[in-house]
Amino acid sequence: MGEFDVIARYFHRTKDLKRAAPAIEQVALGIGDDCALLSPRAGMQLAVSSDMLVEGRHFFKDVSPEALGHKALAVNLSDLAACGAQPVAFTLALALPQIDAAWLSGFASGMFALADTHGCQLMGGDTTRGPLNICITVIGQVPSGQALLRSGASAGDDVYVSGTLGDARLALDALQGKVQISDDVLQRTRQRLERPMPRVALGMALRGVATAAIDVSDGLLGDLAHVLHASGCGAEIDIEIVANCSILASENHGFTALYCQQLTAAGGDDYELVFTAPVAARALVAQAALNSATKVTRVGSITATSGLVLRDASGAEVAQSFASFDHFKV
Ligand code: ADP
Ligand code: MG
Repeated sequence: MGEFDVIARYFHRTKDLKRAAPAIEQVALGIGDDCALLSPRAGMQLAVSSDMLVEGRHFFKDVSPEALGHKALAVNLSDLAACGAQPVAFTLALALPQIDAAWLSGFASGMFALADTHGCQLMGGDTTRGPLNICITVIGQVPSGQALLRSGASAGDDVYVSGTLGDARLALDALQGKVQISDDVLQRTRQRLERPMPRVALGMALRGVATAAIDVSDGLLGDLAHVLHASGCGAEIDIEIVANCSILASENHGFTALYCQQLTAAGGDDYELVFTAPVAARALVAQAALNSATKVTRVGSITATSGLVLRDASGAEVAQSFASFDHFKV
């Protein structure tokens, strides 16, 4: 099998395209020519983002190809979610060490299952031989001027996070032998590590409600710091509420409070949203959470003075700092 057979067999789904009906009118030309052609709708801006996954850095060599296909697209859709954009299409640039039919079909099925859930169509890409490397570029649409940006937070706004935090990192720590957890807990947390669910519906529901947003990929506090920097403000965060944002929070697994705080505040790989909204919009945030069937938790508020202050439940300042993930500092 050669390069073009791989594309034709695993990625060119002409007959399946009807499943991605919402995107079809906008993807005027998909796989098979030198370029794909997009016809954006009037009044819409296109939102574009790329994420690359490298073996040994973003995933283990033995991870299931189906989970990898899911995650490679999920981390990209998460960026669209953070902008409040609706997924339209994506490209896939793939370096493969060899052509492995079982791997390719697993990878494609994980990727397309998630793509179809979001009506997002594979419209092109590149395929080459090399160390396993997966780069997806997603394209979404958002009504002009309505994208959620990092720069819109202002003093007095509430700070919220979606879903659960820290569970992906717990699975990673366990898989790397840093902590011991039961098989049951490993199974549940591994699901969060390998199959994150991008908060696309919540992001779209927050248009016109949230003042700023970002997705949590490198750790809550580090990603929130990007919002604070872009918005020129600070925040006070209740570290105990954050520590409770874990699927394990209600269970006692003998972890120290500090470890729970580290997992949830700085664990990374969560693909949740952290966003801000005015106090007056609390009912609208609750409605957006309900409409998108996504849990949201208020974890603090934005301050005029810069800097991130952590407080415990009694309101006392916590001195601990939590470093988030940086590819060039580890
Ligand atoms: P070119 O040489 O002009 O860059 P290619 O021969 O690389 O084009 O690709 C042929 C067609 O297949 C193009 O339309 C390209 O977008 C598509 N394609 C290549 N690799 C992939 C892939 N991994 N997934 C989806 N489409 C792909
Ligand atoms: Mg090419």
